[in-house]
Amino acid sequence: MSPANASPSMAATASARSGRESANRDRLLRLPIMTTPRLRASLDGLPAYKAGQRPAQRSDIVAYKISSNENPYPPLPGVMDAVMRAAADMNRYPDPFSTRLIAALADRFDVPAEHLALGTGSVALCGQLVQAVADPGDEVMYAWRSFEAYPIWTQIAGARSVQVPLLPDERHDLDAMADAVTDRTRVIFVCSPNNPTGQVVHRDELIRFLDRVPTDVLVVLDEAYVEFVDDPRVPHGIEVYRDRPNVAVLRTFSKAYGLAALRVGFAIAHEPVAEALRKLALPFGISTIAEEAAVVSLGHEDALLERVDGIIAERQRMVDALRGEGWRINEQQANFVWLRLGDQALDFAAACETQGLTVRPFAGEGVRVTIAEPEANARFLDVAADWRSAHSG
Ligand SMILES: *Cc1c(COP(=O)(O)O)cnc(C)c1O
Repeated sequence: MSPANASPSMAATASARSGRESANRDRLLRLPIMTTPRLRASLDGLPAYKAGQRPAQRSDIVAYKISSNENPYPPLPGVMDAVMRAAADMNRYPDPFSTRLIAALADRFDVPAEHLALGTGSVALCGQLVQAVADPGDEVMYAWRSFEAYPIWTQIAGARSVQVPLLPDERHDLDAMADAVTDRTRVIFVCSPNNPTGQVVHRDELIRFLDRVPTDVLVVLDEAYVEFVDDPRVPHGIEVYRDRPNVAVLRTFSKAYGLAALRVGFAIAHEPVAEALRKLALPFGISTIAEEAAVVSLGHEDALLERVDGIIAERQRMVDALRGEGWRINEQQANFVWLRLGDQALDFAAACETQGLTVRPFAGEGVRVTIAEPEANARFLDVAADWRSAHSG
């Protein structure tokens, strides 16, 4: 209620309440030190997931957040209408089985409904997969550097991370990963395109790898960016999983589909794994709004492809321009570019920030920059060119 239509007595009550609240808060902060509830030791030192920062408001220039690999486009046709209709029912719990979305996905990807599980973003499904297979002390393997959620979920489960360094060209070292499998290995994440390096795994090497991994070890193909791949050597996990019960594929509506705020991702896996994921899912996690938006989005494949093509073209333009400025850029197959800046990562990110561009630095390693609105991309290329001319030689 706005102050304009609040009655005097309501205003007085509200002001008395806010006085009480602040007294309460002060008292809480002055509580004597006492024993606190025992928290699980495995939470100590948990790496906090560092979400992309919001850009500071600028009066001089438009600020862009190009740190979270979000889609710069508005929702696909019809999505807003579906969302508004679904919003009118927000007093009701959603369909706990998300029947419409499951049916639409089964149809779209030609898989049985029993092979599908939804999650509140595929990041949640990463956690459910770890919980489904790893007891304390078991091993969760992934390449490193890769998606930051993997070490977090591993630690939460009390399991042990086995991080296999990327090859010098920042591709997965699948031979080393297969070599590193032990009898404690329960799950291996393969992220392709890899976040944050943008590199991919090829069909032949993936098949060779899968042939070496014991069939009781789960292999998760994290394909959050697969829609942006234009390299024909890259397989779609869905072709690979069909005759391999130990392979699960993760997809999301957050990136290419542009529904990041609605939190919906899905796994495709054989029934025992998919069923375990469903058991571990947050009840009613997929809102009716998210479900409807996803269903309508799936019906607009043409518009999706058009946008994805636009982002791929923009990616190529950026990679070409950066290489032209003298940057060494590996093949990029996602909706971002990765600049290996080493010790200069934080300084470069600060230089971007002064120009109203919030990028994602990884201290000592590099900077990940989302392919965004053409204006943001153009401004980024200017910053990168200035940096090169100031730092070359
Ligand atoms: C963004 C991302 C996801 C999933 O994001 P959600 O919004 O949780 O669906 C999963 N894996 C990788 C590698 C990502 O970059």
